[in-house]
Amino acid sequence: MQIINNFIDGELIPPSSQQFLENVEPATGNVYSQIPESNRDDLSHAVAAAKKALPEWSGMSIEDRARILTRLADEVENASDELAKAEAIDNGKPISLAKAVDSYRASANIRFFAQAITQFSSESHSMGNEGINYTLRDPIGIVGTISPWNLPLYLFTWKIAPALAAGNVVIAKPSEVTPMTAFLFSKLCVKAGLPRGVLNILHGSGGNIGQAIVEHPEIKAISFTGGTATGKKLAATAAPMFKKLSLELGGKNPTLVFADCDFESTVNQVVRSAFANQGQICLCGSRIYIERPIYEKFKEAFLRQVEDLKIGDPLELSTQHGALVSQPHMDKVLSYIELAKKEGGQVLTGGERITLKGRCETGFFVSPTVIEGLPLSCRTNQEEIFGPVCTLQPFDNDDEAVSLANGTEYGLATSVWSNNLSRCHRLAKQLDFGIVWINCWLQRDLRTPFGGVKASGVGREGGLEALRFFTEPKNVCVKY
Ligand code: NAD
Repeated sequence: MQIINNFIDGELIPPSSQQFLENVEPATGNVYSQIPESNRDDLSHAVAAAKKALPEWSGMSIEDRARILTRLADEVENASDELAKAEAIDNGKPISLAKAVDSYRASANIRFFAQAITQFSSESHSMGNEGINYTLRDPIGIVGTISPWNLPLYLFTWKIAPALAAGNVVIAKPSEVTPMTAFLFSKLCVKAGLPRGVLNILHGSGGNIGQAIVEHPEIKAISFTGGTATGKKLAATAAPMFKKLSLELGGKNPTLVFADCDFESTVNQVVRSAFANQGQICLCGSRIYIERPIYEKFKEAFLRQVEDLKIGDPLELSTQHGALVSQPHMDKVLSYIELAKKEGGQVLTGGERITLKGRCETGFFVSPTVIEGLPLSCRTNQEEIFGPVCTLQPFDNDDEAVSLANGTEYGLATSVWSNNLSRCHRLAKQLDFGIVWINCWLQRDLRTPFGGVKASGVGREGGLEALRFFTEPKNVCVKY
C-alpha cells in the first residue's frame, strides 16, 4: 500500500489529523494507496509556509524564476515514463494516451510559462503632452488552484505554472480521485530546487480541504477546473470575499459534420473527439450532428471504427479504451445510458459495462456507446455525461446546425468539419463557444485563450490570459 503525503514548506508530511482516504485503481477496483484527508490545520501550516516564501519568490529576477521552472520542466520530462504509468494506474486511461498527452503536457506547461514570463510586458497609455500612464502587473500573493481527475497532472500544472511564473506562491489541491501524480510531482519540485513553501500541495476531499482553501481569507485568487455544480458553489463562497476567480467548468460539446468534409479523416477525428480518455475530456464532442446527405454513410463508417477500439488493461500499450475513473462515475454513466433508452434513444453500439478477463476483471469498463433518435431537448442531449457516450442526429442546413449546436446551457468547445472555408468562418462567428476547432480537434497552441462561455465558465487560461489572471494590474499616472 502506497502512502501519499502532503507537500508543505518543502517537506512531504502526513496530514495533522492522521486521517487518510482510500485511493482505488479503476482498472481493478482495488484500493492501492492512501491519501491525506487534510484539514484547516494543514491549510494554516501551508499558508504560513507560503507567506514566508512570498517575498523571495516574488522579488526574484524573472531570469532566476524562469531558470528554476525550466529545471522543474526538465525533471518532469525525465520522469515522463514513470508519471505516465502512474497516471494510467490512478486514472484508468490508456498508457499510450498518458504518455502522449498527460505527461507530455505536464512538462510542456511548465516550460511554456517559464519562457512566457520572460516575454510578459505591461501596457503604457500616453496622454500626449499631458503625461503618461503605465501599468504595473504584480503577483497577487498567495493563490489557490483546484483541479479535477480527468487530466490530473496536465491540468494541475496548467494552473500552477503560470501562477508560479508570475511570482505568486501557491496552495494547490489535486483531485482526491487521482492524487498520485501530484504526489510524485512534489518530489520532483524538491529535486529541481524549487524554494521551500513556494508550492504547497494539500490532498483531500473537495468538501473539506477544497472548501477551506476557497474560504481562506489570505488566499486572494482561486483558479478552478471541475464541474459546473461545484463551480457555482465555489463562486457563491468566493464572491462575497471579492476573490479573483477563474472557473473552467463542464461542457456538452457539439461536432458539426458537413457533407463536403474530408470523409475518412473526419470519421477518424470525430471518433477520437468522442471517445478519447473514455469521453472524459471536457472538450470531447458528445453531440454529433451530421448533414443529412451523408448521415447514413457517416454513421456506418463511424460505428465500424468505434467497434474497432481496443478495450483493455490501461497498462497495455495497444489499449485504446481504458477504465472509467471510479465506480460512482461508472454508475452515473450507465444511468445516463438507461435514461437515453427511456427517452426513446436507440443504442447503435455499446451501452453496457464490460467485464475483462484476468487482472482487470473487476474494473470499471464501459463500452463506447453511440445513440441515435433523440431530440436536442432531452436530458441525454442537455446534460454533461462525461463518459464514452455520444449521440448522432442529422441536420439539413447551416442555420439548423448552429441552432442545434448552441442549444444547451454549455459553451465550452465545438468542432466544424467542412471544406467550405467561408461557411467555416461564418459559423465560427455564430457559434456560442469559447473554442471553435475547424477541421481538427484538441489541436492546442498554449498561447491561445482557453475556456468557455455560458455554464462552461468564467475567464480564460493559457498564454497572456493566465499571466494576466495571476497578476494584479496597477495603473500609475504621471503628469508631465
Ligand atoms: P468536481 O467539480 O467534482 O471536482 C473538481 C475539483 O474540485 C476536485 O479537486 C474536487 O475535490 C474539488 N471540489 C469539490 N467540491 C469542492 C468545494 N466545495 N470547494 C472546493 N473544491 C471542491 O469535478 P471532477 O468530477 O473532478 O471533474 C469533472 C468535471 O470537470 C467535468 O464537469 C468536466 O467537464 C470538468 N472539466 C472542465 C475542464 C475545462 O477546462 N473547462 C477541464 C477538465 C474537466
